[in-house]
Amino acid sequence: MTPLFESQVLAQLAQGEVTSDSLVKTCLQRIADQPELGAFLEIDEEGALAQAAEIDRRRSGGETLSPIAGVPVALKDNIHVRGRRTTCASRILADFVAPFDAHVVTKLKEAGAILIGKTNMDEFAMGSSTEYSALQVTRNPHHPERVPGGSSGGSAAAVAAGLVPLALGSSTGGSIRQPAAFCGVVGMKPTYGRVSRYGLVAYGSSLDQIGPIAADVTAAFELLHVIAGHDPKDSTSAQMGRDDLSLRVADPKGLRIGIPKDWLGDGLQPEIQQAMSRLTESFAAAGAEIVEVALPHSEYAIPAYYLVATAEASSNLARFDGVRYGYRATGAQNLKEMFVKTRSEGFGPEVKRRILLGTYCLSSGYYEGYYLNAQRVRTRISDDYRQAFGKVDAILAPTTPTTAFRFGEKTADPWTMYLDDIYTVTANLAGIPAISFPAGLDSQGLPIGLQLMAAPFDESKLFQVALNAENFIRTWR
Ligand code: GLN
Repeated sequence: MTPLFESQVLAQLAQGEVTSDSLVKTCLQRIADQPELGAFLEIDEEGALAQAAEIDRRRSGGETLSPIAGVPVALKDNIHVRGRRTTCASRILADFVAPFDAHVVTKLKEAGAILIGKTNMDEFAMGSSTEYSALQVTRNPHHPERVPGGSSGGSAAAVAAGLVPLALGSSTGGSIRQPAAFCGVVGMKPTYGRVSRYGLVAYGSSLDQIGPIAADVTAAFELLHVIAGHDPKDSTSAQMGRDDLSLRVADPKGLRIGIPKDWLGDGLQPEIQQAMSRLTESFAAAGAEIVEVALPHSEYAIPAYYLVATAEASSNLARFDGVRYGYRATGAQNLKEMFVKTRSEGFGPEVKRRILLGTYCLSSGYYEGYYLNAQRVRTRISDDYRQAFGKVDAILAPTTPTTAFRFGEKTADPWTMYLDDIYTVTANLAGIPAISFPAGLDSQGLPIGLQLMAAPFDESKLFQVALNAENFIRTWR
């Protein structure tokens, strides 16, 4: 495997030791050398080289630029870049060209980041393995027969294989942290409202957040810092901006680290459990206080998540009807038949399953029993976290129950795929920030991911503790 681009590359660019042009060319070469990975759906070679030349010119002219100026960033293909395709890895949007830039893309352009291409994903971000992409297969860079995780599998694989230093993913229930864990990189889901969703194709609007994927915690922070901040075009964007965001290295002495004991039982791969224990001991040895926390409603998280997410998805995806966007089926005799044919041919099986489930749980007679109860559970989960964060600075937990699984292992039974999200969905339901980072390899050489969670908008604390964790883990090697 080619080496990862760690955050040093940002400093090398800033100091002029590396040009953006040479970095972009290295990335393009690596992408071309590893076509079997299938991380990218589209590469903008010409655009990337032109942007790089522009940044190099400005830098040599003495301009002070953003820490990510000249750095190639890959974008999950559900984020709009004006004039480029946004496919969501779906047949229904295979030829859809975005008419505007997502807020995060505007921010990246302002910062001088190089938009090098779009990455593969589960269709409409529904899945945990990228196997539901209607367009291509993406492989785990650590093992060709294993999935990269999902739904942001292309972005995680691209960073893990050293194809790009930075990538954006989106998370509705874990789609940044889970693929980051499977691929051995850092993935972070911000507090709901921290990053604008404008120009992100909606899946579950009350859960969706865009977030960074990078080789290390520092690089992830730099990318978050660029994309965060208030956006009047997203009514759920928080008013607080990004001035509070800081990356601070601090002594872990006195930190209170919460451990959700109930999460560590059966079903967790023993080597992940061992990584948890080892990191917990590292924190304790450095003077942090280890506190057991109760998150009693987590046991209902998967059903609650899959009701809320599919309910919102069924409404959000109603717009893909063959009239307004993308694919339109031919040969229909009337309007209704055209809708039905377009959606039948355009959507893949997992998307259809979710539209059906979501429509069902919102229909009269079932709404109270399913949707409303799921929302009640969601409130309880938020309350569990609120209480926990009254006692601790951050919660440490596994990101996934197992390391990367094999292709086909979970596609036959959707429920087993859904269960893979057990440790990630609660942060989305509660809207809190969470970060997954690599914590060694299992006996098969597959990456283990652990995560930290913090109180809403306490990203600075989250990153501080994540830096501590990363430092401890570095000494494990
Ligand atoms: N795997 C989860 C799902 O399929 C999460 C997906 C996501 O975060 N986009 O819904």
